[in-house]
Amino acid sequence: MVGSEDNGKIILVLNCGSSSLKYDLIKMPHRQSLGKGLVERIGEEKSVLEQKSGERKLVIEQKVKDHHEAMELVMKAITDKDEGIINNVSEIAGIGHRVVHGGDKYASSVIIDESVVAAIEEFIELAPLHNPPNLIGVQVARSLMPDLPQVAVFDTAFHQTMPPHAYLYGLPRKFYEEFKIRRYGFHGTSHRYVAARVTDLCKRHPSNTNVISCHLGNGGSVTAIAKGRSIDTSMGFTPLEGMIMGTRCGDLDPAIIGFLMERGYSSKELMKVLNKESGLLGLSGVSNDMRDLEKAADEGNHRAKEAIDCYAYRVRKYIGAYSANLIKVDALVFTGGIGQNGWRMRERICRRLENIGIFMDFKLNKEMGSKEGIVSEAFSPVTVAVIPTNEELQIAIDVYELAFSGKNEYRRRETDFVVGIKRP
Ligand code: ADP
Repeated sequence: MVGSEDNGKIILVLNCGSSSLKYDLIKMPHRQSLGKGLVERIGEEKSVLEQKSGERKLVIEQKVKDHHEAMELVMKAITDKDEGIINNVSEIAGIGHRVVHGGDKYASSVIIDESVVAAIEEFIELAPLHNPPNLIGVQVARSLMPDLPQVAVFDTAFHQTMPPHAYLYGLPRKFYEEFKIRRYGFHGTSHRYVAARVTDLCKRHPSNTNVISCHLGNGGSVTAIAKGRSIDTSMGFTPLEGMIMGTRCGDLDPAIIGFLMERGYSSKELMKVLNKESGLLGLSGVSNDMRDLEKAADEGNHRAKEAIDCYAYRVRKYIGAYSANLIKVDALVFTGGIGQNGWRMRERICRRLENIGIFMDFKLNKEMGSKEGIVSEAFSPVTVAVIPTNEELQIAIDVYELAFSGKNEYRRRETDFVVGIKRP
């Protein structure tokens, strides 16, 4: 087992879903994951914890009533005498929580105090499925480990640098003022991580680097990043806007909603259709999973092929729009399950982008597979890269910077690349 004798700080990263609890123990500043695990089916008859640490694997099956019990089980698992990750819970130096919505209040990660807890609660109305379990995770961890610094890392925070012309919808002002309806954007931790990583990979200085980041997973979003700051992103008030996703429809003419409601669909039914039954799944009738679709398309399924084409076209459209907004693009990054692993989709997207300076080396792209690396031609004005995202590591970095560097507003290295900006 790995201890913290060498002055490293072990950070526990938590991601609480409605019936799951994901965790990762990361040693900082070494950026080393010591082990990770997942408790699933919390609240059901039989819950299961699975943990991996190097070659060691631990599986515990037992009823776990709620997140409090899940957290206690995690403590037991990580300190297990034979298959654990650390010797004692006291080796944990700090805790980082993934929180989906920080509204317009947080433009960076923050040390959790009562006001942050209240804000996570306040923004439940904006993220009714995600903020409640995130809040429970924070409350449980604070009650079990009250003396440790705990940090909230918001999915929305990175996008708080968007200017009004990018985040305002063309609606009457009162909808923004009264109901906070605006673009918030999501996947911020992932976009922030890969943008910093690609800057390192290209040996560039962040202050003169513009990036378009494509997080293509089951959910997906494209973000325009100028000098380390998000200036626009494809997801909006909710994660439903933007690209065509696994089961989400993405951009839509809003009149379609009224049209369908007049034909008997309730708003609840429609939300279910648009979130869970649309996108790649709805278009293909085959699957929401890109691997299944590529297989079906190869076997001649026309709808699967069309769904794939719609997906690639929509991503290309965003890249084109953001390329116009950024004026000069230095790097295009692919991440997320499809972006990292799907070389065919990367190729499909880039095949029609040469006119904006994106020249992919198709052979290299195929060879790169799922690894981190550059996949563009040496002469390409825009560097194209594959970067496996690591949101857990970014959360651990934030905890380390906030809790152990003595700064509440921090900057990456000595550069002016602002990773976290504390709002006045
Ligand atoms: P989530 O948004 O749920 O975290 P992921 O980032 O894990 O999702 O991405 C899931 C998607 O990645 C699925 O559509 C899956 O088919 C796709 N994917 C995984 N491996 C490959 C691959 N080798 N080729 C193409 N797509 C892949």
